[in-house]
Amino acid sequence: MQVVADLHLHSKYSRAVSPQMTPPVMSYVGKQKGIDILSTGDWTHPLWFKEIRNFLTEAEEGLYKIKNPKLGEEKTRFLLSVEIANIYSQNGKGRRIHNLVLCPSFETSEKINKELIKRGYNISSDGRPIIGLSSKGLLELILEIDERAMIIPCHIWTPWFGMYGASSGFNSITESFGDLSKYIYGIETGLSSDPEMNWEIEELNTRSIVSFSDAHSPAKMGREVTVFDLAEPSYTAIREAIMAPLLTSEGKDVRNKVAYTIEFYPEEGKYHYSGHRNCKITFTPEEQKKSGGICPVCGRKVTDGVMRRVQELASEAPRGVAKQNEKGLKWITDPKKKHPPFVKIVPLNEIIAEAIGRPVSSSKVKVLFDELCLKLESELHILLKANIQDIAKIAGEKVAEGVQKVRTANIVIKPGYDGVYGVVKIWHEGKDVAKDTDIETKKPQLGLNF
Ligand SMILES: [Zn+2]
Ligand SMILES: [Zn+2]
Ligand SMILES: [Zn+2]
Repeated sequence: MQVVADLHLHSKYSRAVSPQMTPPVMSYVGKQKGIDILSTGDWTHPLWFKEIRNFLTEAEEGLYKIKNPKLGEEKTRFLLSVEIANIYSQNGKGRRIHNLVLCPSFETSEKINKELIKRGYNISSDGRPIIGLSSKGLLELILEIDERAMIIPCHIWTPWFGMYGASSGFNSITESFGDLSKYIYGIETGLSSDPEMNWEIEELNTRSIVSFSDAHSPAKMGREVTVFDLAEPSYTAIREAIMAPLLTSEGKDVRNKVAYTIEFYPEEGKYHYSGHRNCKITFTPEEQKKSGGICPVCGRKVTDGVMRRVQELASEAPRGVAKQNEKGLKWITDPKKKHPPFVKIVPLNEIIAEAIGRPVSSSKVKVLFDELCLKLESELHILLKANIQDIAKIAGEKVAEGVQKVRTANIVIKPGYDGVYGVVKIWHEGKDVAKDTDIETKKPQLGLNF
């Protein structure tokens, strides 16, 4: 059975998060978007821990649902996961790494929280706590409490806070986690990289490459998700699915695995290219090399983008092969069959906004979005599977055309850099750009070709 999961979310107790990130709203929005399992987020925060414990009850092993059906969508499941910021120094260098901790039960979460408090870490000031413990130290702590708990390094390529980050990260999982690296079964790509950019990293061959939204508001939920193939949904099944590449490499049979991931266009992420936000300078990896990495405006070193960092650590150029299905959807598959395929999407509200010429946050966009999701199952169903004619009947020809253009990757993106999101253009100045500026044919400009 295929199950859509978004296991990296934040609650209203994390900094810069919408007050709407509460169990009821998250459960409704999860259903509307077609996400079956959501992260609770932030379970280290004492007030949030209390709130989710009150709202949720166990439905399947390690998966929780809304206790009172009047207060949320009963079908949505929650899994206990929290992002922790580890800030420490290792081998004479300052490290700032974000790690996702997945937990099989409230009991285990509670024990981990107690241990963190006992060691003097402040877990109540933010939903995403900052602790002065190394990634390896955190992994050791959680495994001692419950060996079923897991760490997935988050958005691994971002210059700050990513495990492979150019500024405060490491060159490998082994360097970061030492002798415990065998317990790292998967990594999160983050918005600025897609799986293909990770396929040439050797040590990821025996690990799952997963994608989640890291949403700070309901609207952003599901912008990246992982679709699992599970015999029966449970925490243990999801854990086995994430461990599947390792288990398979050891010759073991697995019943659970990652089927595919749904991705943001990595160019749309905030750190795809290198550059300086304040100087409005952006560099492709090639331009960065030519300029010596120095900003022509302020004369300082530019902030490294994910693209350049991937090129530094990858052994070869990307190998993905594009295949289009009968719905026009473009799948990127791995010719070496080491990793599952993926698709890239643009959030539906962004497509609607551009089609009708209104801001994404406008009520017109929201009304159309809600109507489409109500009549055509869910946002993910509309983006990936719905008949284009059905979309046209509800939202008009232009929105339908936009969805089709996104499915076929016939869009243009100005890549993000130094904390600035990339800008998506589905219709390039009003003309169809299929022939001259489509993402695929313009690969070198977007820096996808290395
Ligand atoms: Zn993070
Ligand atoms: Zn996060
Ligand atoms: Zn500058």
